[in-house]
Amino acid sequence: MSYANVAFPISVNQLFTYSVPQHLDAIAQPGVRVLASFRNSTEEGVVIERVNETDLDPKKIKNISDCLDEEPTYSEELLELTKWMADYYLSSWGNALFCAVPAAVRNQKQQLIQLRSEYIAPTGKVQKQIVALLETEGALSPHQLAHHINRSPAKLRPQITALQKNGVVDVKVTHKPKATAQFTNVASLALPPADIAAEIAALTSGEDGYGSSTHQDAKRIPHAAAVKHAEILQILLDEDIPVATSQLTKRVKTSDSLLRTLERRGFIKITRAAAVRNPLSAQPVPPTQPLPLNPAQSAAFRELQSENRSNQTFLLHGVTGSGKTEVYMQAMAQILDSGKSVIILVPEISLTPQTASRFIGRFGDRVAVLHSRLSDGERFDQWHRIQKGDADIVIGPRSAVFAPVKELGLLIIDEEHSDSYKSDTAPRYHAREVAQKRTELANCPLILGSATPSLESFFHAQKGTYKLLSLPSRILDRKMPEVHIIDMRNELKKGNRTIFSERLRSAIADRLKKREQIILFLNRRGHSKYVFCRTCGYAEKCENCSISLTFHFETKKLVCHHCGHKRDTHPTCPDCGSPAIDYFGRRGFGTETVEREVQKAFPTANIKRFDADSTAKKNAHQHILEDFQHQKIDILIGTQMVAKGLDFPNVTLVGVIVADTALNLPDFRAGEHTFSLLTQVAGRSGRAEVAGEVIIQTYMPDHYCISAAQTHDYVGFYEQEVEARSVFEYPPFSHVATLLLRGKNENEVIDAANTVSGHLKIWQTDEFPEVIILGPAPAPLSKIDGKFRWRFLLRSKNVEKISQLLQCLNDDLPPAIKSNAVECVIDIDPTNTL
Ligand code: ADP
Ligand code: ZN
Ligand code: ZN
Repeated sequence: MSYANVAFPISVNQLFTYSVPQHLDAIAQPGVRVLASFRNSTEEGVVIERVNETDLDPKKIKNISDCLDEEPTYSEELLELTKWMADYYLSSWGNALFCAVPAAVRNQKQQLIQLRSEYIAPTGKVQKQIVALLETEGALSPHQLAHHINRSPAKLRPQITALQKNGVVDVKVTHKPKATAQFTNVASLALPPADIAAEIAALTSGEDGYGSSTHQDAKRIPHAAAVKHAEILQILLDEDIPVATSQLTKRVKTSDSLLRTLERRGFIKITRAAAVRNPLSAQPVPPTQPLPLNPAQSAAFRELQSENRSNQTFLLHGVTGSGKTEVYMQAMAQILDSGKSVIILVPEISLTPQTASRFIGRFGDRVAVLHSRLSDGERFDQWHRIQKGDADIVIGPRSAVFAPVKELGLLIIDEEHSDSYKSDTAPRYHAREVAQKRTELANCPLILGSATPSLESFFHAQKGTYKLLSLPSRILDRKMPEVHIIDMRNELKKGNRTIFSERLRSAIADRLKKREQIILFLNRRGHSKYVFCRTCGYAEKCENCSISLTFHFETKKLVCHHCGHKRDTHPTCPDCGSPAIDYFGRRGFGTETVEREVQKAFPTANIKRFDADSTAKKNAHQHILEDFQHQKIDILIGTQMVAKGLDFPNVTLVGVIVADTALNLPDFRAGEHTFSLLTQVAGRSGRAEVAGEVIIQTYMPDHYCISAAQTHDYVGFYEQEVEARSVFEYPPFSHVATLLLRGKNENEVIDAANTVSGHLKIWQTDEFPEVIILGPAPAPLSKIDGKFRWRFLLRSKNVEKISQLLQCLNDDLPPAIKSNAVECVIDIDPTNTL
């Protein structure tokens, strides 16, 4: 007997053994999705391995009911990659597998059984029935066949397999809800431009309520219709390329029948065509040629060339506009020439039509774009183009790291510092780590690119684990924007208690007058209730963790959300003695407050908020950006969402209201986030000809994160930050993991936390002394969606020790967790510890 070990998408990391019936023997190979009875229902699982023996009682082993794939969905490489993921991120293999292939690709598959054009008629009764049905009905799915013949699909399977083997039928895999139209009707001119111009003239010449036509059968046309005809011809004449009929009818507000009339009279042709060239927008993309590289680019390119057959990680550090993309593209061209494929990851928010166009312009339709707005059908099609090798370049957000390319030759992660590469659902993987593993399996290079690399990556580059490639200046010596730091302590001294410094206020007024646009930026949501001195900028920190302390109104105490340490507030500033010590969060300093203040100060300006709340509705995000693009909005107020990848030539002023709110977040990465955010925000200003200005308001002008952002000095920032991290052994000097407990009943959560704490501490003392456990403490965001959140922070140089310690917990979970009253969330290498 032959068995298969199958993984299911459940939280327990365990494989389940099934026997493989003979008719499935050939297809039920590793990587193939199967249906099997599991926990009283039929579930989808993935065959991990085939074995010939098992310790289980053979009588108790169930059969696999059916296979969902003809060819394995998961390649050997993907199986290995997901196994690694499951181990590293403490998830189950099943969950890792299901996260690596989108549901749209998995669920929507359907097999179609189709008669071949020539075949030898079968003899068996059922097989004859099948052939007869296919003859009358055309292609059918196994389920439809089963329904007609009144047998179960599982029973039919061996017959279908036999028919397939004997060359009677083909089995095709298609997408279930027929993939949305890839083709569209396009109209183009059927006559030379001169003839069209003559027709337009005739159409618009009428004076008696009619237009005329150069076409012999249609001399007089009612005026209204004649005008529409003329407009359509004019558009086609102007555009000079085929235009989708749906677009035409929309633009001139008419119907298809009018287009058909034009076609009948021989002025236009309507054809079906694959009109969409950039999958993110309908615009055709003009081809581009490689640019001659500047010296810095050449040096980087040569280094890349020298290692393009081995598993080396490169960190391409270059300021925005330094020509990183050109380097990527020339490195890609080489790999593609050798017959291998390339994956490029970009943050979701910067996956714009412009980004895609740059790659499509250079490489044409070999590029597959995976983005979150794809319909299921489109996603399915893209996935299969990649799997079949029709597309050997994939560009997409973090999940594209799993793209089933044929032979991976290069993986690129642009903006590698971006938090969007970290998954916020289980398995909580980081695409950079997964990419690291994947390129290791494929033995190919990995390029990480950024203007503000993550501290970890730059640390590796300093140590020589990664090869550092630098592009120190902008292409063609274009200037970096000017950044002004405003010391808000001075504003207070001058008696200015508003949120605007004098300089920012007058700069805004100036831009409004010139009809240029403004982005006002507020770091993060306004939840952080940290305590700071308005006179000197001093902020209260925990002695144990160097994390900002948070003020709790109920208890009037300062609390450390890392270790749980509590203490009283100071009535005056411990640093300068000023009584102007302030609890920032008390004033609800969020985007809404800023919006009110701005509206008060500039009542006639068009102001719009751009944050998680105002963009919660579907497409709201897109609408706001479009309005801003079309200059219907003067001032855009936003959180970090504004910082990334937005490019508006008319923006000449960027104001940061208080840089400190992000700097004082109770998170050890607060400084890093602040620096990279400020640097990026600064990059938003003055991208076009008009010089840009950036104004950063702060109470801590001397803080290195802020002064380094002013001079665009990444290395300066890095040196200070890495020093600060080393004191408390935060990453990159260690690995951190968080264990979060959350539930609706706070007492239950606290009880569970205490029980877990007891267990953790026993194991730590006995077996894992190198792991440091902080907490339990309420998480900085102590309640989200009505759920209370308590948290542990674990730290060790050796990430495996943390994993092993956390795994011990599985054997001894408190009842509240087992019953799901309290949820337990583990995050290895979190990017956000709020
Ligand atoms: P980055 O990716 O580092 O932000 P880009 O690749 O977007 O930089 O380059 C910025 C601009 O400079 C682009 O318009 C690009 O076409 C142009 N550019 C890049 N390399 C060169 C080069 N070698 N010569 C001329 N222009 C270049
Ligand atoms: Zn002070
Ligand atoms: Zn602490």
